[in-house]
Amino acid sequence: MLVLHMILWLNAFISYHTETVMSTTQFSSESRGQYKAKAYAAASAKSSLAPTTIPRRDPGEHDVQIEILFCGICHSDLHQVRNEWSGIPTVYPCVPGHEIIGRVTKVGSEVTRFKPGDLAAVGCLVDSDGNCQECQAGLEQFCPHMTLTYNSPDVHLGGVTYGGYSDSIVVKEHFVLRVPSNLNLAGAAPLLCAGITTYSPMRHWGVTKGKKVGVVGLGGLGHMAVKFAHALGAHVVVFTTSANKKEDALRLGADDVVISRNTDEMSKHKGSFDFVLDAVSAEHDINAFIQLLGRDGNITLVGAPDKPLSVSAFSLLLNRRSLSGSLIGSIAETQEMLDFCGKHNITADVEVIPIQKVNEAYERMSRADVKYRFSIDMASLKSQ
Ligand code: NAP
Ligand code: ZN
Repeated sequence: MLVLHMILWLNAFISYHTETVMSTTQFSSESRGQYKAKAYAAASAKSSLAPTTIPRRDPGEHDVQIEILFCGICHSDLHQVRNEWSGIPTVYPCVPGHEIIGRVTKVGSEVTRFKPGDLAAVGCLVDSDGNCQECQAGLEQFCPHMTLTYNSPDVHLGGVTYGGYSDSIVVKEHFVLRVPSNLNLAGAAPLLCAGITTYSPMRHWGVTKGKKVGVVGLGGLGHMAVKFAHALGAHVVVFTTSANKKEDALRLGADDVVISRNTDEMSKHKGSFDFVLDAVSAEHDINAFIQLLGRDGNITLVGAPDKPLSVSAFSLLLNRRSLSGSLIGSIAETQEMLDFCGKHNITADVEVIPIQKVNEAYERMSRADVKYRFSIDMASLKSQ
């Protein structure tokens, strides 16, 4: 499923990109006003992120301009900056960041839900065509013409969109989320990707009280999955390769922790799970986790390693198990998730860093040394 999504996504990306290139004259003839924003960008797959300035459009009548206060660092940022996804080639310079929390500085004349001074959030999507079957169903994340927050064709200014490692962003109102006032802002930023990506499949597959749920990989996504599964009342078991994360897993809400490289420990749980969420960012043996499922159990992949995973047919045939994928979540569901977090006081466990430490943070993330999300304090960009 995930591979299919990637292919559809790639097709959409290529055709959209081609259309954009073909109509460059049209965009420049719009001569839309723009301003310069500070940002951090990678110039190539091998470059570190470094300070730069980027163009942002002046807010149009349906737009919200946001001063960015915090931006989370997702492993997808690292995959894209290093051009690790063959299906979604990175266009440079690349300004990553899709876990954005900020304060509204300006709104267009048609904007009704936000005013200057309000808190606002932006996740992985900043636009979609609004009239395809998926958009009509309120599932913008599957729109063949969706615009990702970065590395998607920018229909306003040409080139590609630039993400949240920046001091401001301008986004169409429909794609701007409200932030519950009780949440810590640095910890709320990762909800915009790590939060919705784990919340959505759990809601879809009916995680609730009485269900046994496994979470594979205790990183940014994984630790949010533990918090949500626990809040939804499930019995939660974490599968980790890092023995030093055991205590944390229990503190985050897990009922049990298994070191996934220990085959004896793994075999004790065979055939007993209703649902498993696989949030691993690298190649791994998924069959070891499929075997954990009971009858009609489902394993959903949210982790996005580039290389195909090999799946044993028999591990799926037995117990009528299913394997699926899930891509972030819709705008309405992202708002539902934020409101759920407000009600249950859920935020990510973050290590707040200045933007100047972003390259160090990437190195640590590539070694699974994150507890459990880096959140960039964007005030640090002002002094740059
Ligand atoms: P992360 O914070 O780096 O966490 C990944 C975790 O995977 C690590 O902490 C580690 O957990 C485990 N891991 C890493 N390398 C491993 C290996 N070689 N073998 C086994 N386990 C390994 O990453 P993240 O931000 O949570 O993102 C996870 C994945 O989800 C990435 O591929 C990202 O691109 C993808 N993603 C997908 C979506 C979507 O919409 N589907 C959205 C966002 C992100 P332990 O130490 O516990 O083993
Ligand atoms: Zn992400």
